[in-house]
Amino acid sequence: MTEPQGRPPSADPSWHERVTEALSTISDAVCCLDADDRFSWLNPSAERLLDRRLADLVGRSVWEVFPDLVGTDLQDAFGRARTTGGVQQVECCDEHLDRWLEGRVLLDHRGELVVFFRDVHERRTPDEEPVEESSLLRAVLNALPARTAILDPEGRILTTNAAWCRGATARGRPYAARVGADYLEACRTAGAAGDQDAVAAAEGLGAVLSGQAPSFSLDYALAPREGRAMAPTWWHLQAFPVDDRPRVVVSHTDITDRVTAEQRAAWQARHDHLTSRPNRAALHEAIADAMAESASRPVTVLYMDIDGFKQVNDTLGHSAGDLLLQELASRLTHRTRPTDLVGRLGGDEFVVVARNCDAGGGDALARRFRSVFDEPFELGGSLLPLTASIGIAASGPAHTRPDDLLRDADAAMYAAKASGRNRHLTFTPALRTELDDRWQIASRLREAAAQGEFTLAWQPVVHLATGEVTSCEALLRWNHPQRGLVAPTDFIPVAEENGLIVPITRWLLQVTAAQCRAWTEQGLHLSIAVNVSAVHLSSGTLIEDVLGAVAAAELPAEQVVLELTETSLARNPSQATRQLSTLRDHGVQIAIDDFGTGYSSLSAVASLPADVLKVDRTLVSGPATSIAAPEAVLRAVAALGSALGMQVLAEGVETPGQLDLARSVGCTFAQGHHLSPPLPAEELGTLLTEARRRTGRQCLPPPEGGRTMPSPPVATSG
Ligand code: C2E
Ligand code: CA
Ligand code: CA
Repeated sequence: MTEPQGRPPSADPSWHERVTEALSTISDAVCCLDADDRFSWLNPSAERLLDRRLADLVGRSVWEVFPDLVGTDLQDAFGRARTTGGVQQVECCDEHLDRWLEGRVLLDHRGELVVFFRDVHERRTPDEEPVEESSLLRAVLNALPARTAILDPEGRILTTNAAWCRGATARGRPYAARVGADYLEACRTAGAAGDQDAVAAAEGLGAVLSGQAPSFSLDYALAPREGRAMAPTWWHLQAFPVDDRPRVVVSHTDITDRVTAEQRAAWQARHDHLTSRPNRAALHEAIADAMAESASRPVTVLYMDIDGFKQVNDTLGHSAGDLLLQELASRLTHRTRPTDLVGRLGGDEFVVVARNCDAGGGDALARRFRSVFDEPFELGGSLLPLTASIGIAASGPAHTRPDDLLRDADAAMYAAKASGRNRHLTFTPALRTELDDRWQIASRLREAAAQGEFTLAWQPVVHLATGEVTSCEALLRWNHPQRGLVAPTDFIPVAEENGLIVPITRWLLQVTAAQCRAWTEQGLHLSIAVNVSAVHLSSGTLIEDVLGAVAAAELPAEQVVLELTETSLARNPSQATRQLSTLRDHGVQIAIDDFGTGYSSLSAVASLPADVLKVDRTLVSGPATSIAAPEAVLRAVAALGSALGMQVLAEGVETPGQLDLARSVGCTFAQGHHLSPPLPAEELGTLLTEARRRTGRQCLPPPEGGRTMPSPPVATSG
């Protein structure tokens, strides 16, 4: 037997010895608990009874060692002993000890609890129960895993099975626990206290006991007892008579696992696994509910899509993308009113359903949601500045189903993207027409390439110092059989969205390289400039497409200029730099197009492998209200270009004044209607060949000599 250790209940040494000795010999288990219910001392009987070694108990809390006792009568008794100071008597059963214990709890003068325990399991077991039963019945009862009791005709518990003892602890305690207790009455009492399941149990059991019903069953939830941080447990109660007296068997099966699994499946069916936000199905329901609520109170749907999310995934990996979506879901959720719902449709698309909110309210909400992007997202150690495009649609008579509203919000989002991203747009019927138009273009575009409906117009680029045409830019035209000439700004974005721009550009590279080769053979010295879209950079085939076309035409790569817009380069500078450097190594020249319209930082431009800076025509002509600005801006850009070792080209030169300006600020090249509009290949070839023959120089006729007004771009076969 182990010697009692731990702290004695008193600091008085003689008292300590006497009491310790006395308590160590008695058969009752005794333990002392400090103010936090931690064992401070126990006698050997307590060790035996609690089936734990002393060293495993001293210093540890009762509730930590015996978690099943949390929330039971024992805990209540501890509380009462502390508040009243009186001796408390209690019975409890611990599932792991599998024993009924009787305890007496008192508070000593030092504020510690002294608890005397006795094993009363024998008394509590069926031997003493007032029912005559065969050993067969006992064996059968004890073999049942469900907590089972037999009730007498009045509803009192006659006997219980082995599982019942476990059921009597905090885990799934039926309405009455003890043999001899009135089960039916316990149900009624719980029912009177507001427990609706207990009301149903009392009625159903009553009917079986009175012979009115052949059986009764009920699934019910038991709330965890106070002080237990647990989810409710679920039970299946079943009652049926055993004989004609009638006695009734009541069994309680723990169905918590099944119910939890069902609840989890139901939750998962309505939530997005990544962000735990409502999913498409749940959003549909929420919109339908809000629409059905009242026709006079509109519901507004916001459809949000992160700008350039694919690039986050492509460059930082999918797990970083997932983290971003989770962070965004949490930011959005913090910005919503309790009545609004934020859900995720999939990918980077989030939807907010705002009840009782019109389009104006939706606009304000969209601003609020866009402001969650003010703070950059921290991913993989770097800060990502991101933006989003949002479409807004408010319910109206045209919307009968949730899909109608979602479709319109989606359309508005799409339009927000198409008009430059990082903005929000409210749906209007005109927007639908515009989209239908785009859709028609998209569906015809694929055929257009096959039908040879694409042509090229060539715009010469003039070297300012010599006045000679050194290169020309190939501009795509679509000769639509019904619509006539479609401007590239109307179909190129559509081609980019549909993945068609890459095959179109591949074709264009071949045609332009062949044209350049033909001009060379006519004795002209020209480079060709081809516009390349950002999509081509991410397709991964740009290098191969360019070098392939050049090789097929047997053209020196030095005669090819690729024009990429500042914004397309800024989207993924490292990806662009890699590919453009390789192309430059082969001799291909790179031009940064539309410079000044994007938001590139100086360092971003400086680090790009480019030869030419094409200054956008908005900088060349300047805003209508300002006269002084163009010169200053253009001068600064020209200085920047030469500092970076790039040649500067002024685009969109429309007047003699603008041409003089371009020259005076130090631009190397100019291009624009004042010099020449885009022309068909033959016309341009003839013009330059004649000039060469007449003057020995590859010049355009002087603007004032015949070429007064820019003629509109003309379509011709490439
Ligand atoms: P961009 O690359 O900036 O092309 C110059 C645009 O400015 C051309 O319009 C040209 O006709 C126009 N332009 C030239 N001089 C003047 C001028 O003095 N004043 C004014 N107001 N405009 C002038 P276009 O041909 O309509 O092309 C528009 C845009 O479509 C191009 O802008 C380019 O971004 C795109 N694009 C055209 N062809 C292609 C192509 O083959 N591939 C790709 N990816 N984009 C193309
Ligand atoms: Ca261009
Ligand atoms: Ca341009």
